[in-house]
Amino acid sequence: MGGVARVVVVGAGLGGLAAAARLAAGGHAVTVVEAAPQVGGKLGWYARDGHGFDTGPSLVTLPQVLADLFAATGAPLADVLDLQRLDPAVAYRFADGTTTAVPGRLDGIAARLDDDLGAGRGAQWSALLTRAEAMWRATEQPFLRSPLAGAATLARMARRTADLRTIAPGRTLRGVGRGYLTDPRLRMLLDRYATYSGSDPRWAPAALLTVPWVEQAFGSWYVRGGLRRLPEAVAERAVERGAVVRTGAAVAEVLVDGGRAAGVRLADGERLPADVVVCNADAAALYGRLLPRRAPVRRARAALRRVEPSFSGFVLLLALDGRTPGLAHHTVLFPERYDAEFDALFGRRGPKRPVEDPTVYVSAPDDPATRPDAASESWFVLVNAPRHEPGSGVDWDAPGLADGYADRVLAVLAERGLDVRHRVRWRVVRTPADLERETGSPGGSIYGTSSNGARAAFLRPANASPLPGLYLVGGSAHPGGGLPLVLLSAEIVAGLVGPA
Ligand SMILES: Cc1cc2nc3c(=O)[nH]c(=O)nc-3n(C[C@H](O)[C@H](O)[C@H](O)COP(=O)(O)OP(=O)(O)OC[C@H]3O[C@@H](n4cnc5c(N)ncnc54)[C@H](O)[C@@H]3O)c2cc1C
Repeated sequence: MGGVARVVVVGAGLGGLAAAARLAAGGHAVTVVEAAPQVGGKLGWYARDGHGFDTGPSLVTLPQVLADLFAATGAPLADVLDLQRLDPAVAYRFADGTTTAVPGRLDGIAARLDDDLGAGRGAQWSALLTRAEAMWRATEQPFLRSPLAGAATLARMARRTADLRTIAPGRTLRGVGRGYLTDPRLRMLLDRYATYSGSDPRWAPAALLTVPWVEQAFGSWYVRGGLRRLPEAVAERAVERGAVVRTGAAVAEVLVDGGRAAGVRLADGERLPADVVVCNADAAALYGRLLPRRAPVRRARAALRRVEPSFSGFVLLLALDGRTPGLAHHTVLFPERYDAEFDALFGRRGPKRPVEDPTVYVSAPDDPATRPDAASESWFVLVNAPRHEPGSGVDWDAPGLADGYADRVLAVLAERGLDVRHRVRWRVVRTPADLERETGSPGGSIYGTSSNGARAAFLRPANASPLPGLYLVGGSAHPGGGLPLVLLSAEIVAGLVGPA
């Protein structure tokens, strides 16, 4: 844009902070305003009696994007955060009792699947990953690293028809997977990657094959001390580069003047004038509530209404006595019928409902920062959950629902070989309603809009809004949710605004 801009960033989630650090490093005058008392958004932290828990993300993928952020704004990542590559990456247990611990490096995966699931399974998975790698190469630059520009984005991706054939735009993740995988357990393993964007594998596009590729080729990572250190480190970097970060400052309205964004009004009435507003609040909140009704953003609002929001999550934080022998950092316990889970989450074959027999995910970092003593553990347990929609869907605040469901999740864990009920010192339950209250994400959606449907990726809110001077960053905007994509959105926004 040329010249120093006064930039206001609405929200100090990872996307807002990363955009702030990049824009401040680019010479702009940046102020971040965050409604909560602390930075981080969904990257929350809960501590009590020496137990500490990440309450949101537990898995870092594509660490290169994080390294890019730190390199572009000052000292390198390794000076600031201690990232550890996990091996095994994830331990899976299937309903028939078989287990496999998928190694943290690509070269060991095929042999492990052959050993644990049967001869030939490794070759099937490798063939699928070869296709996934080709997809990654075809989409990384033109889609994930570029602003969304409707038909132009598709054209960029279709420049080579071979690329288009690779991406298989009309096909679903499940559909493409079935062509490679005959074992129902491998099919389940692939289906789970749709949940990384809060989606249904029966509707999500084949392009989500890039998710297992990225995880398995570039590794699964943990941040020593907890993932909460990520937003703290990025906030520090932004401040080092001159940004001001204000917590406890909720934005009530994005101001519009002369047909462009002109700043924000805080809930207490204070006005912060700006040349550029970067919104890290959920796009649904921005277009639904924060912009004046007359703002010229009709098409963006309409596009948002056409896509299904991502589902939410039900979280149990468990302070446990004793240690669990052989427990991996990440464990996934699958149900017998995975489709019943997606039916419940999205309200197919009946209304939306808590999942009766859910997939259970346990993250138990072996990190002294998370426990009071060596004879204890702190587990983050996550099951996918329908959004909080009192009146039209599940009301997660209904008396007794959350506690009863927490008991159910503990019983499911026990049925699948991890009975920790007698070891619980205390537990904290966090529902989709809590997530909505704490991070402002409507209904507690984890990833903004889902990827359900071939057009969902192209209907996701663009980083440049139709209102000049207003940009969107974070998981509800292009290119989507999850830490690496959120960081890419910040890179795109910083590129669109340009240096001072
Ligand atoms: C339970 C859970 C597990 C997850 N697991 C993983 C994982 O393992 N790996 C992974 O990569 N991703 C995971 N994710 C997704 C990941 O957390 C998000 O994609 C990412 O953190 C979103 O970042 P964001 O920049 O969109 O901002 P958010 O974290 O959504 O933050 C937005 C910020 O804006 C603030 N805000 C909102 N409205 C206003 C307003 N009006 N005024 C001022 N401030 C406002 C909010 O308070 C919040 O701090 C998980 C999420 C959850 C909830």
